[in-house]
Amino acid sequence: MATTPDCLFCKIADGVIPVTRVYENKAVLAFPDINPQAPVHILVIPKQHFASLAHTSSTEAELLNELLLAANKVAQLQHLDNGFRVVINTGPDGGQTVDHLHVHLLGGRQMHWPPG
Ligand code: AMP
Ligand code: ZN
Repeated sequence: MATTPDCLFCKIADGVIPVTRVYENKAVLAFPDINPQAPVHILVIPKQHFASLAHTSSTEAELLNELLLAANKVAQLQHLDNGFRVVINTGPDGGQTVDHLHVHLLGGRQMHWPPG
């Protein structure tokens, strides 16, 4: 169980809310974003609840490693051979709307910089 019962992404991790499980291992789960901002838009989450990146520390070094490795793995599975973007919105100024750490994997079109 992913520990925090009122958390949307904990419910997804626990299978209470069904999603297409694009990739998963013991520590992380990847599934499509419900409101995609690019042809490929997948979220990678730790199965364990952390409210945001700002709520992690060196104790989570291995888990943070797993998140980035999984994002790269999913990019390969999705054939994003021309590149992709990973984004971790953090806190109110970062535009975070779901308070469970997640990595956005975006690809399939040219990304623009800087973001708005
Ligand atoms: P953020 O704004 O960085 O917190 O991103 C939260 C993301 O979660 C948004 O891109 C939403 O579209 C996405 N989202 C919200 N609810 C769901 C859901 N039930 N399944 C998949 N993605 C979701
Ligand atoms: Zn959670």
